[in-house]
Amino acid sequence: MAINVREDYSLKNLNTFGIDVSARYFIEVSNLYEINQVFEDSRFLKCSKLILGGGSNVLFTKNVDGLVIKNAIKGIELVDEDEEHYFVKANAGEVWHQLVMYCIEHNYAGLENLSLIPGCVGASPMQNIGAYGMELKDSFKELEAWNIKDKFIQKFNKDECKFGYRESVFKRELRDQYLITSVTLKLNKKPNYNINYGALEKELEAMGIQDLSISAISKAVCAIRNSKLPNPSEIGNAGSFFKNPEVKRSNLEDMKTEFPNIVGYELENGNFKLAAGWLIEQCGWKGKTIGDAGVHKLQALVLVNYANARGSELLDLSNQIIKSVNTKFGVELEREVNIY
Ligand code: FAD
Ligand code: NAP
Repeated sequence: MAINVREDYSLKNLNTFGIDVSARYFIEVSNLYEINQVFEDSRFLKCSKLILGGGSNVLFTKNVDGLVIKNAIKGIELVDEDEEHYFVKANAGEVWHQLVMYCIEHNYAGLENLSLIPGCVGASPMQNIGAYGMELKDSFKELEAWNIKDKFIQKFNKDECKFGYRESVFKRELRDQYLITSVTLKLNKKPNYNINYGALEKELEAMGIQDLSISAISKAVCAIRNSKLPNPSEIGNAGSFFKNPEVKRSNLEDMKTEFPNIVGYELENGNFKLAAGWLIEQCGWKGKTIGDAGVHKLQALVLVNYANARGSELLDLSNQIIKSVNTKFGVELEREVNIY
């Protein structure tokens, strides 16, 4: 069957910032056969290609003069188990939170702290999604991806993905070279609860939870997220716009003399992670708006589109924030959101 190619297609409803841009060509793929067809199609051989999931971690600053491929390959399956684990394979077009809910319903433990992260399964390895002290890599077994240049499906194990803090090989060395088609997770039969994040512990207490469970943790995470984060269907945003910067212990000590309240969390490598939201807030950005672009009033790490901001306006705002944080703290913020 011929693939359905749309031309000059609006992406406004396909990115959570709600930026009004269009794609020269747009195609939705639901299986490997369609992927193969797209990459064999002579019309697109020389075209730039952008893979889109839920559009919750992208900022479009201009129309896309190429082909946007929306990944809609569905399916979740228990593929194996051993004494301690379940192995669940989820196709890339599944909504991440639906996968988390599926695992909780079946009592497969490991994803509960990652509840309610927007987007699709296929994008989850891109930045090794993380929240409340857990990351994708903690439950990751392997993924399958379409090699765009050589046109075949390739497997990547955990080491090959080079996961780091909001990082992977697909965001760096192999950027734009693969279309991730599925992710296989290694989930626990016996839960290994992680409620070290203060807010999570407090929420569980407020909920009156006596017997901890993966379902209770998921509910607590959802409650906190719903109370703190702007809902993209109400206010355009892509979650944290910047990554939390890492500094050496000596840098943190120096900063503490001038800013005694600075927040730093020790990392495994002995460095410290600074809360970027706090740095931005100290520079006076929290709640500020420039036109329709703004810094969220409850969480300074989240940039928002209040109505009809252009992507370039949000990018300009992010540049101003980077500059002022650098001037005040001597720390260079790095964007987490993918700019196009
Ligand atoms: P998209 O935005 O569509 O794509 C993101 C990037 O991945 C793009 O570069 C795209 O080209 C690439 N990509 C997408 N799919 C594929 C594929 N199949 N193969 C190859 N490349 C692909 N992130 C966190 O880590 N933790 C959080 O707690 C969190 N909270 C958020 C809260 C809100 C309110 C919002 C709006 C965002 C939040 N995010 C968070 C960011 C975002 O949800 C994640 O990064 C998510 O994984 C993005 O998924 P997506 O499908 O929307 O990706
Ligand atoms: P928060 O709880 O207000 O904490 C602020 C920052 O401090 C977070 O970024 C977090 O780093 C860090 N932090 C807090 N407690 C920590 C602890 N016990 N140990 C180590 N680091 C700690 O953050 P929030 O904005 O409400 O977000 C809550 C969680 O959801 C965080 O994990 C955050 O990453 C995640 N989240 C991510 C996005 C995104 O788009 N990436 C958007 C919303 C929420 P970490 O960010 O490294 O965890």
